[in-house]
Amino acid sequence: MSWPPTSEEFARLCETLVWVYERSLHYRCLFDEAGVRPDTLRTYDEFRMRVPRTAKADLVTNQREHPPFGEFLAVPREQFGSLHTSPGPIFIPRLSQERGGTPVLKEAIKAMGVRPGEVAHVTLSYHIMPGGLRLHRALEEAGCLVINGGTGASRLQVEVARAWGATVYAGTPSFLGNLGDTAREMGLDPRRDLQYRVGFSTAEALTPQLRRDLQETFGIELFDHCGEAQIGPLAGECRVHEGMHLHARDLFCEFLDPETGDPVEPGGTGEIVATQLGPRALPLVRYAPGDAFRLLSGGCACGDPSLRIVFVGQVGAIKKIKGVLVHPAQVHKAVSAFPELGRFQIVIEHPEGQRYDHATLRVGTMRPPTDPEKLKHALAAQLKATVLIQMDIELVPEAEIPEAAGAPGFAEAMLDLRGKHG
Ligand SMILES: [Zn+2]
Repeated sequence: MSWPPTSEEFARLCETLVWVYERSLHYRCLFDEAGVRPDTLRTYDEFRMRVPRTAKADLVTNQREHPPFGEFLAVPREQFGSLHTSPGPIFIPRLSQERGGTPVLKEAIKAMGVRPGEVAHVTLSYHIMPGGLRLHRALEEAGCLVINGGTGASRLQVEVARAWGATVYAGTPSFLGNLGDTAREMGLDPRRDLQYRVGFSTAEALTPQLRRDLQETFGIELFDHCGEAQIGPLAGECRVHEGMHLHARDLFCEFLDPETGDPVEPGGTGEIVATQLGPRALPLVRYAPGDAFRLLSGGCACGDPSLRIVFVGQVGAIKKIKGVLVHPAQVHKAVSAFPELGRFQIVIEHPEGQRYDHATLRVGTMRPPTDPEKLKHALAAQLKATVLIQMDIELVPEAEIPEAAGAPGFAEAMLDLRGKHG
């Protein structure tokens, strides 16, 4: 999938829309109410402006009102091949030919340099949710010998990974940290006694600090990957580690300005809106999980021409400062590169009579910094490079920053004082 979409991609989207319109009661009603006939759509802009979005809540409500599968369904029950569940609960039946993102995961695994014959240890949950099984299948297809570790039982997992000489870890970064601690408690050295060399990190944010700690503990190369419960795998890092390549092939992805709904250019931050391509038991059209990504501009040194994206956070927490969309999680990422810094609060003001917003980052220090000016400069440079915004930096003792400003909630991380003066 490319962005903006090519005419071939738009044509493939329209084929799917016609298929969905004929079979899904929910979408037929939705299109009819919007006065749209999928077979007469001519351009992507027409699709974007006329076809309404589907929110997760729409799916949950519809399944509750019409249990168990709701009116999104496009095929009779006899044609289901399997059934997944995601929190809600949402029931997601699949056709047996729906690969559930396995082919793109297999490619992502190859891009990480995983070789056939390697032993892979999957520690995502295999219960009810699709993640563990999906990754297991993809690693099998990539030629690995796969251990179905699942979650919990860390001691047993360390023993199994050690006995089998697992070289590939697949799961959350925090559980990998847990395995490192457990190995040490067992009197083992995670670097010497475990052989992980490649880590597929998913389902959780991989902060720079966490990445450094884990690489230090295990001597492992970690690859960040992201997906979404309903739409499956989205993007993953290559060996260059500068953003995640959008590898969704069975999705039509849009990246839209959360405030205006306009397509976002490379360099900007956009909300993802995805339509599943091809026949699906439960199709989703313009599904908007509420996640925002920054689109990187320019090509990647690895040679893969696909778009690279960086996860920013949930759309609701985003604020536009000096024309740039900023999410506290992005700032957290920059701040967490400095071990002496803790919680922070961004104060946004629009000084009277001035043209531009003014942003101050108040950062809590966990211990007095040796060179405060140097630290402030380094942090300001980091913010300019990653969040693309200039902020004044003020260092304060961490106790002065409200606890509710901290990760992962960031409830009070932005203090917007614009329009609140005089
Ligand atoms: Zn690349």
